[in-house]
This record gives sequence, C-alpha cells and structure tokens, in this order.
Amino acid sequence: MLGVLLSLIAGAPAGAFPAGPDGAASTEEITRAVTAEQLESHLRAFQDAADAHGGDRATGTAGYRASVDHVVERLRAAGYDPRVQVFTVPYDEDHEHDHDHGHDDGEGMAAGPRVTYNVLADTATGDPDSTVVVGAHLDSVPESPGLNDNGSGAAGVLAIAEALAGTETRNRVRFAWWGAEEINLNGSGHYVSDLRANDPAAFDDIALYLNLDMIGSPNYGRFLYDGDSSWGGWHDGSPEAPAGSDAIEVAFESYFESVGLAAEEVPIDDGSDHLVFAGAGIPVGGLFTGDSGEKTRQQVDLYGGRAGTDYDPCYHDACDDLGNVDLQVLEEMSDATAAVVLGFASSEIDDAATLRPPDGWPRRSALEELSPVLTGLMVWGAVVAVVAGVAVAVRRRARAHR
Ligand SMILES: [Zn+2]
Repeated sequence: MLGVLLSLIAGAPAGAFPAGPDGAASTEEITRAVTAEQLESHLRAFQDAADAHGGDRATGTAGYRASVDHVVERLRAAGYDPRVQVFTVPYDEDHEHDHDHGHDDGEGMAAGPRVTYNVLADTATGDPDSTVVVGAHLDSVPESPGLNDNGSGAAGVLAIAEALAGTETRNRVRFAWWGAEEINLNGSGHYVSDLRANDPAAFDDIALYLNLDMIGSPNYGRFLYDGDSSWGGWHDGSPEAPAGSDAIEVAFESYFESVGLAAEEVPIDDGSDHLVFAGAGIPVGGLFTGDSGEKTRQQVDLYGGRAGTDYDPCYHDACDDLGNVDLQVLEEMSDATAAVVLGFASSEIDDAATLRPPDGWPRRSALEELSPVLTGLMVWGAVVAVVAGVAVAVRRRARAHR
C-alpha cells in the first residue's frame, strides 16, 4: 500500500521510454549505436593530432587544425554537411595567466590575434524552429594533448552525430565543436554573439544547449549540471540557470535511473561553454566526470575509484593523454547524452512555453517535489505508531503482573 502510494506520488516509472516517431530511433537503438570502439577511434585521432604537432591541440596550433580536420572528415563520411566557422581570438599574456606557455614552434604562438575555428553540423531533417544544440570544446590547453579535457566530450558529440545520422527527428539537432574554450570561452562566445547580431531569428530557434566537457575522467563521478538551482544558485557573478534548465536535469536523472547508474547533481560553477548560452537565456544542461576536485568516500561508494584523489590527476597537464580516459564512463555519458538529445529532438517543443522534459519521459511533479516530505511524515507516523504500540503492550504486561 505504502509502495503503491509512493509510486503514484513519483509519477510514471522510470525506464519506460517511448520509441521515437515512425522512422526514428528509440532510446535503446540510439544508445546501442554509440559504441566504445567509435569513441576510442576519435580519441586516437586527437592523440595522433597532438603527437604529430608538438604534443598539444591548443588554439592556434597545427594540432588544433588536425583535430578540426578529423571532425569534418568523419561528419562528411556520416553524410553531414559540416560548416567551419572562422574567427579571431585576441591573444595575449592575460589569457595565459594559469599556463606556462613556453614553447614557440612558429605556428603563431606569439602574442597577437589568432585565427581559429568552430565546427557545426545540422541534421538534414527536423523543425529548425526548435533546434537542439549539443556541443563540446575541441581545443586543449597548451602543452597538453587534452584527451579527457576535452577530447572526451568532442568524441562524445561526434559519436552521437554518427549514431543519429539518417535518423528522422521532429526537431533539428545541431552538433558543435567549439574552438578557444580554454581562452575565455571564445568559440561559443563568438558563435552566440555573431548569431544574435546577424541572424536573431536563427538565435531564437535554439531551444536548448547541452554541454560535454570532460566526460572520461579516470577517477570519475557521474555528474549532471544542476538545472533548478537546488544547489543554491550559481557562483557570484555567473548567470542564473535559465528557466527550462530543470527539464534537462530531470531528463538526465530519468535516464540514469532507468539504466541503474548512480549520478548526482553538481553546481555549474565550472566555466565551460554552457555559461555563454545560459547568459543568453537558453536552457542549459550537461554532463561532467570531474577535474581537479578530490573524490569523497561517499562518491567511492557510488562509483568506485579512490577517495582523497583527484577525479582527473592529469587535468590541464601533459599526462592528459589516451591513457587518462576511462572508456567505460565515456561511453555511459555519451549514451546518456544521445538519449537526452533524441528525447528532446523527438518531442513537441513550444517556443512560447518553458521547456519540459521529453514527451513521455518521467517529469517532476509538484507532488514528487513533496514526496521526500511525505515519506518523512510516513516514517515518523510509523515510528510513533510502533512506540505507542510498545507502550500499550508494556502497560498491559505491567497490569497483568499486578
Ligand atoms: Zn574543458
């Protein structure tokens, strides 16, 4: 009875995701189409790009160009018509405050403006009025191959694009690889400000933005961005999570629950490209597996790994190479994102209303928000009943002895 009541309060059971419309993939199909082999082949290409060009894939380097080439090549092979957006990054010592940037390989590493690139690709079908954007930064910091930060996210978005190729969705999906994220979020910043200034209607078409930055940390946690500010809001000076971001949080939570994987919310105070979209009022969400923070004992209970050790001991370091990426968690996070992308891409999105979780997916009702309180009241009720029962029994026994 209690169980029935609780399940009614919690709403639809997780795990029952509907298939897409005719011709579209289901959640199961799309997550099966994202494979570890595919992810690993992209990671290898990024490692090769760094190895062949002085060890990194930073803005302005040939290693970054080679990374762009790989993404463009694989998108074309999958049937997309990718667009390379060229922009210039003002570059001086101010942007390098936390990196030792010693090497000068004659590829424009001196201070001064640098030319760099974003890569964008759209699904051929789907309503452009409600465009689902999923992106990851493609650049590394200087002197690091940047395989977890952010070869992992870039590989994830590419694998999802490949898995979705040829699938008909209700809404258009746009895949994005940002340049110069490590220099003040320059690539996504350029994209958003350019679109707002030169094509405001196209900017208005963006329904939501999903970000992947570091999703293969070796000592990982499964973190999803807090969309409802239940962590007390964002850090000082950063934008609030725009209305509708909670729907993305709920979608990721529902997915992880449905496949029985532990995950937890994190406040979005780690700067990445989602901040640019949030600043422009677009609902944002995303996944993360941890950087230089230390894993707690409770997190070891949830995910395994080592307590008191950084999630990624090679964060922004030369050792952030292929061996620094956990392929299993990379695939889990890529699957989750593929499911959420497909979910929103298959749903009716009302431009005039606040974003809701994907159609047919569990959503958080007012009652569900209340359920911890109700459960607490029930537990207390049960405790009170037991105590009262014991008291009555003791009194009866005492009377019998008299
Ligand atoms: Zn990053």
